[in-house]
Amino acid sequence: MENNNNENNNENQENKRGERTPNPHRNPNRTPNPHRNPNSNATTEPREPRVDNRPPREPRVDNRPPREPRDDNRPPRENKRPFVERTNKPGMDRNGFPEKSSKPTSDRNGFPAKKSFPPSKSGGSSGGNRRKNPTTVSEEMNISLMANREANDIRMNPWKAIDSNGAGKVRFTPLGGLGEIGGNMAVFETEDSAFIFDVGMSFPDETMHGVDILVPDFSYLHTIKHKIKAIIISHAHEDHIGAVPYLFKELKFPIYGTPLALAMIQNKFEEHGLKNDVSYFNFVTKREIYEIGDFKIEWMHMTHSIIDACSLAIQTPAGTIIHTADFKIDYTPIDDLGPDLHRLAYYGSQGVLCLMSDSTNSHNPGFTKSERVVGKTFDSIFQNTKGRVIMSTFSSNIHRVYQAMERAIKHNRKICVIGRSMERNVETTRALGYVDLAEKHFIEAHEVNKYPDNEVLIVTTGSQGETMAALFRMATDEHRHIKLKPSDVVLISARAIPGNEGSLSKLMNHIIKGGTTVHYSDLPDMHVSGHAGQEEQKLMLRLVQPKFFLPVHGEYNHIAQHAKTAVSCGVDERNIILMSDGDQVEITPKYLKKVKTVKSGKTYIDNQNNMTIENDIVLDRQKLAEDGIVNVVAQVSQSNQAVVGKLVVTTHGLVSDKDSKKFINDIEADVELLLASLKPETMKDHKAIENEIRNSVRKYVIKTKKRYPLIIPTIFIV
Ligand SMILES: [Zn+2]
Ligand SMILES: [Zn+2]
Repeated sequence: MENNNNENNNENQENKRGERTPNPHRNPNRTPNPHRNPNSNATTEPREPRVDNRPPREPRVDNRPPREPRDDNRPPRENKRPFVERTNKPGMDRNGFPEKSSKPTSDRNGFPAKKSFPPSKSGGSSGGNRRKNPTTVSEEMNISLMANREANDIRMNPWKAIDSNGAGKVRFTPLGGLGEIGGNMAVFETEDSAFIFDVGMSFPDETMHGVDILVPDFSYLHTIKHKIKAIIISHAHEDHIGAVPYLFKELKFPIYGTPLALAMIQNKFEEHGLKNDVSYFNFVTKREIYEIGDFKIEWMHMTHSIIDACSLAIQTPAGTIIHTADFKIDYTPIDDLGPDLHRLAYYGSQGVLCLMSDSTNSHNPGFTKSERVVGKTFDSIFQNTKGRVIMSTFSSNIHRVYQAMERAIKHNRKICVIGRSMERNVETTRALGYVDLAEKHFIEAHEVNKYPDNEVLIVTTGSQGETMAALFRMATDEHRHIKLKPSDVVLISARAIPGNEGSLSKLMNHIIKGGTTVHYSDLPDMHVSGHAGQEEQKLMLRLVQPKFFLPVHGEYNHIAQHAKTAVSCGVDERNIILMSDGDQVEITPKYLKKVKTVKSGKTYIDNQNNMTIENDIVLDRQKLAEDGIVNVVAQVSQSNQAVVGKLVVTTHGLVSDKDSKKFINDIEADVELLLASLKPETMKDHKAIENEIRNSVRKYVIKTKKRYPLIIPTIFIV
């Protein structure tokens, strides 16, 4: 949905973005800072008022001519390799190039060297705030204060090292994932090249009858297909890869991703008859840099609710962009592979032009707990349960599944995996070596009854209450092998995705009615989110310290809250845009602004046949569901242009059966009157007659029922 207010604000602020007022604290006599671009007019963020008791400083009078921009002959920075040796020796800049000035500009600790200074008014008092023993501010202290301010400015705003006069430009267009949770897809592009970032699916709302999944509208991709070099995949969640096969039926490009993401896309390709398209796969190694068109891209390991998730560092002609993709900061992940904070910090210290970050949990204060806490909960339940344990979670959350399996083995239970996607994902992750558990611990569904109840763990799908999933069928006695018993304990280790609360509640009703115990949100650590809370979002903002910020992956309220968090972490409010799907922003070292809106939207998919459902079909279904239908059948004689025989009117979804007779009679009477009054020319044209009937019935139904049903007149010329 287009947000016009936002657009106008953005346009109005366009000139302000990136411009700053001069820093009043800077001493003009200092040696130019080697890290600062002399052409940049940007300076520090507004500071909190300082609390100190020193007398206020006199405004300094500076009659010197304005400083010339520094002639900088340093070679352009090379950023090809991930690990560039940085020197910090006296006389060198931080890229290891000799300083132009022969005087050392930093002392042996790497701090700016002392400089000559106008004498300070040490000990003096220039009015107000008089004390008996005023603090003496020596010249040296003043120099040190200045030096520390300068050092802090460099440290906190490393993006100022980016040449703000650089001509590089990059455009970013989200085509899904903003204004919604799910369906993530975006495009990065320059004049000559582009790549697609994730190709995810989302779920329909309850008004989209008969629609199983939604995929993003690919129209814009068709218009720029000549310059698209690749599809970049951040991780294997459905909201990031689910629409890849649908895109491949229209357009094919090389796909870059980590092994698990590509393995899961491969499974999809097999289902969609695209087996040979695995030839488009490019397996990436984290911490290596891939040159894709005008971009250089590095995948950085990230913790999330799926294995092998990554944040991306994207070097563009305008500057470096960090896209976190989906993340949480898990210091104790199950596989011990913590998030690659070092690379984020590395890029952050080099100067990042723009950060795009996950907004899903931006309303949650504090930290999201580690995945590991769920294992402890499982442990105590496995210990205390005499019957079978049935654990249901998202089939992609392999660490969750793995934790349950590990506990099962510890407590001498066999593992039975039930549900198509769960079976497939466990098989895939075992094949790739992510889940290393011996075959002897696994049993098939038909073998479950051979084991005592306290020796069985069933891992299954259906944590969202899906009626087709295994857990729902077990709870309603429809599963071929497993029926729930009162001694069973069901663990729903998930949260309902917005929109699924109702179906999950129905599932719980079925389970509890059968006398089975179910744990869902009653135990605090039954589930943890895969997305960062506010404190983790702040950590990301502080590590990356971007000039511009685009909150992504969320509805408007999520990104708006994330923007506030960013401002609290030092990002200038004017350097943030709240985007909607289809908005295109241009990012340059100087500005971030919205430039246009491109076509975006959703295509409806019927999962039974993996085919598209056209928009008008879904609209008709909505009308039928909300307002019902009226059918009018009439026979018109060709010879005398009059109605022959009786009209037939039928209606559904408008009036109850007992009231329908009068309603139908009234419509019939109305239509008969209408037809009798029509001119002979109109009676020759059956389309015209149908229109007249439709208008007449519509008026009557609106008047009597205040509804807008589907009206279908059918005319037979006899
Ligand atoms: Zn996601
Ligand atoms: Zn995800």
